[in-house]
Amino acid sequence: MTDSVVTRFAPSPTGFLHIGGARTALFNWLYAKKRGGKMLLRIEDTDRERSTEPAIAAILDGLKWLELDWDDDVIYQFSRAARHREVAEQLLACGKAYRCYATAEELAAMREKARAEGRTRLYDGMWRDRDPGEAPGGMKPTIRLKAPQTGETVIEDQVQGRVVWQNENLDDLVLLRGDGNPTYMLAVVVDDHDMGVTHVIRGDDHLINAARQKQIYDALGWDIPNMSHIPLIHGPDGSKLSKRHGALGVDAYRAMGYLPAALRNYLVRLGWSHGDQEIFSTQEMIDAFDLPAIGRSAARFDFAKLENLNGHYIRHAEDGALVAQFESVLDYVPGGAELKAKLNDTTRAQLLRAMPSLKERAKTLIELISGADFIFADRPLQIEPKASALLTPDTRALIGQLRTALEAVTDWRAETTESAMRNFAEQNNLKLGAVAQPLRVALTGRTTSPGIFDVLAVLGREECLARLGDQAAT
Ligand code: GLU
Repeated sequence: MTDSVVTRFAPSPTGFLHIGGARTALFNWLYAKKRGGKMLLRIEDTDRERSTEPAIAAILDGLKWLELDWDDDVIYQFSRAARHREVAEQLLACGKAYRCYATAEELAAMREKARAEGRTRLYDGMWRDRDPGEAPGGMKPTIRLKAPQTGETVIEDQVQGRVVWQNENLDDLVLLRGDGNPTYMLAVVVDDHDMGVTHVIRGDDHLINAARQKQIYDALGWDIPNMSHIPLIHGPDGSKLSKRHGALGVDAYRAMGYLPAALRNYLVRLGWSHGDQEIFSTQEMIDAFDLPAIGRSAARFDFAKLENLNGHYIRHAEDGALVAQFESVLDYVPGGAELKAKLNDTTRAQLLRAMPSLKERAKTLIELISGADFIFADRPLQIEPKASALLTPDTRALIGQLRTALEAVTDWRAETTESAMRNFAEQNNLKLGAVAQPLRVALTGRTTSPGIFDVLAVLGREECLARLGDQAAT
């Protein structure tokens, strides 16, 4: 029987779910789904000072928005501290760990000396083989791993390949602090083991930790999970990802009007490829995803690409689904509450009718909202300055005539209003544009909008006649 795959996403709730974390979660999710396994979620809240409730809430919320569901209950690392202590004691009991009574001053001096001698191993092993009987009274010791001092520690990484460390360069790391709190390094190993994690997929900033963790696994006689350390995301110029380049929380992407499916598609291609395929449905992603296909060099974040992809997803989305996305993003954008208050059966139906034309022009939900402004505008409309300049007395008179011509249309559709307007233009020796532009100004308050006959159809007869009446010369 082969063991089923268990991956985990293990964010530290010291900040919001940032874009790199979201990609790590996605890779873990995809791998678990592909293998019919589970993705677990562990909140690494051992750092009590820097972990916050709002950050935990934002991580859960961000994952839900991205539709990356985890299996089983969320595991909070801090709640497992007693178990971490137990394992440290176990290592102590079998001679794989020892109590260290070095003072802060002694440790500082060791570090200084190691630096001066250009060594990466900082701790000199002063309590490694010393008789605990010599321990100074009244001092709470740390527990350190009795790490091997010769030989190599090797990680066979799915992404990085075989990575080798010389043990002489690695410290006897602290497992339990003087105050009895487990270190992060110990907690991760014990949790991954107890949770039955088979595959660790995380950022390559944790590669060195993998070596340290491997030594703990070895001391415990446990198998190390299969490791994949994925390159971090950099800015478009190859530098560290900055806010300007997209180092933002997932919530910021929601507020910028990206669709979760588009963001997932963008993220999966960030460091992973499958031939030259760019667009992946969720199922295609699951089927094609694999760890060795992740590249070794840093991926570059490209806003323009994300925006184009989002435009693709918007154009191909179902109209009803877009109305739902439109509604849900209103909670996160400036002015959204005001628009939300105007959503009712009528405006929802208008929005749905407008969607085929709106979605052709929008790369984000924000652009979609802006395109749909005309639906929610209160009468009399506020006319944009550029549009207002067109409202000369002649134009206002023309708008009055157009209103009269449209009033005669009873079967109100894009086609019937269009033919009424074409007839009017012909009879009055006007080009269609000379009719369409005043209509647009009066109906939307702008000089650009979706196709004007779509606007007429979306707003409906009564509202159109009223808006035209507002601008017509009396
Ligand atoms: N908590 C760590 C982080 O947020 C991840 C640790 C791990 O994946 O092993 O960077």
